[in-house]
Parts: sequence; C-alpha cells; structure tokens
Amino acid sequence: MAESSFCVFRYNCGRCGETFTDITKGDEAYGELAARSAGTGQLVYINTFADPVFSELSELGRLVLAEAHLSPPDHRRGPAIQHAYAAACDLSGDGTIFQVGAHPHCPACGNDWPSAWEHTGEHLTCDIPEPSHGRWRSLTPEQRKALVRKHVMNSLSD
Ligand SMILES: [Zn+2]
Repeated sequence: MAESSFCVFRYNCGRCGETFTDITKGDEAYGELAARSAGTGQLVYINTFADPVFSELSELGRLVLAEAHLSPPDHRRGPAIQHAYAAACDLSGDGTIFQVGAHPHCPACGNDWPSAWEHTGEHLTCDIPEPSHGRWRSLTPEQRKALVRKHVMNSLSD
C-alpha cells in the first residue's frame, strides 16, 4: 500500500448514462500512474520512481527498441513501456491483467468506456495497493527481455 494524492474525476457512462465519481492520477502527477484491472476496474497505484521493476522495464524497453532500430516519438514510447510494465505485474484479484490509465467501471452497469470525464477539482489522499511482480521475478533475464519485446512491439503496431 502507498499513500498518494489522487484526482477526483466525474465520469459519464458511455452505455447507461450513469454519472459517477472515482479517483485517478491526473497528468500533473509526474512519474505516478494509476492502473485498473480489466475485469472489475480494481485500482493499483504505481510510483515509477520507487518501483525498481519500472526502471528495469524502461531499460529493457530502450534496449529492444535500439535492437529493432526503432525510435518512436515519446507519445508512442511511453504507452508502449507502460503496456510492457502491465505485463510484468501479477494478475489482479479478479484474475485479469492491469491496464495503465484504464477508466473505472460504471457502478451501475459495469461498462468501462465513459462517454465523458472531467476533473472535479477535488483531490483525495488514499492508500492504494501497488502491483506485485512475483511472476516477473520468476523469469530469467532472457524471458524478461522477450516479454518486453513482445509487448512494446504489439503496442507500437497498434
Ligand atoms: Zn453504466
């Protein structure tokens, strides 16, 4: 668990129209990310400066891009690294992967695609669990690099 300040956002569900609030990380939270599980939207907090797996991922990401002679712009590289990082996290409590920057699920219908969202201007300090990396740590260096290569390349080919 790690205590951190989150932005309170107001969401409009893209399916049933429900209006609800939930917390996430805003763009101003440099080096901090929020991720949610694909299944139920379970929130985890990522401090990219404090999590050694994130540094390791970034380094491997640079390496596989250099080997592939690719130099994507920052707005493509960042999400590609985050996509690979999510694959280095253990599955969530609901048995699904975490997705960095994913929206919360609508409390009324479970849909995770809001039609609109905005910062209410409020902030909340919350204790949010951080992802664990047991599966990642059990991999050999070669397996780690292969995993990063796969996810970075998949993200860049989207
Ligand atoms: Zn809904």
